[in-house]
Amino acid sequence: MNDTSISFNLDNNAFRGRIVRLDNVMREIFTHAQYPDNVAAAISETTALGVLIASLMKFDGIFTLQLQGSGPISVLVADVTSAGKVRATAKYDAKAIEAAQVLRKTEGEIEPTPHWLEHGNLIFTIDQGKNTELYQGVVDLKGKNLEECALRYFKNSEQIDTYLHLYLDKVGDVWKSAGILIQKMPQKGGKDGADDENALKELWNEDKILMDSLKKEEIFNLDLKEVLFRLFHEHQVRVSKEQEYVFGCRCSREKLQQTLSSMKPEDIEDMVENGKITATCNFCGQVYSFDKGELLKH
Ligand SMILES: [Zn+2]
Repeated sequence: MNDTSISFNLDNNAFRGRIVRLDNVMREIFTHAQYPDNVAAAISETTALGVLIASLMKFDGIFTLQLQGSGPISVLVADVTSAGKVRATAKYDAKAIEAAQVLRKTEGEIEPTPHWLEHGNLIFTIDQGKNTELYQGVVDLKGKNLEECALRYFKNSEQIDTYLHLYLDKVGDVWKSAGILIQKMPQKGGKDGADDENALKELWNEDKILMDSLKKEEIFNLDLKEVLFRLFHEHQVRVSKEQEYVFGCRCSREKLQQTLSSMKPEDIEDMVENGKITATCNFCGQVYSFDKGELLKH
């Protein structure tokens, strides 16, 4: 299975983890919309992180990971439903990306995602539908790469010791992505002495070192359970759950009609071409067409 996350635990449940790989989901995202190479890589990395974090959370609805910034990429968004449907897109200024690469002498290189957003935030939202509270977490987008930004979130907002790696691989025109994460489980009360504490610290450090040894070729090419066994066979690795993901968009003519209808009448007039207003979904490329009368309030 190529689009999947596997839940596992280590060292007799002292730590929990997730490993994720996205292949066809990314292929579909890039079939529906074309992006400059750096934007595509950033979308793919953001999607892997989104799926990784969504897979840690219990929810029934939509999990959204959004990065917002003041740079050439202003928005990166990936959302994941509890049923495993994934979509992602970006807002960006292609000219500003080119100009930044000329200035930094990095033409043709793939730069870390936070470079493109500059100052901004990383936001997690869980929407469980009508009559439920929106759960939201926000952290400054600080770090030399997306891994560091995500670790900051876990440290500041969740206060759970977490370690993670994200991977990108370009095959043909498609940026595939993958990730692995481990977390300390909340301490159980009881007879935890200093010895246990030290032993746990040692195991945690060993697991982090093992994670550092994981190569890109392995996470993209091997069976993910095999990857886990190879890495953690001396740390009582146990696989508990597997979830599959597919590309899926939630746009509809009705939703778009609602959004467009809320615009100012003069802005709607500006969009009219040959008597029609057409709008394209950024996520899936679906084109919707409206008569002016459908959008203007009477
Ligand atoms: Zn759509």
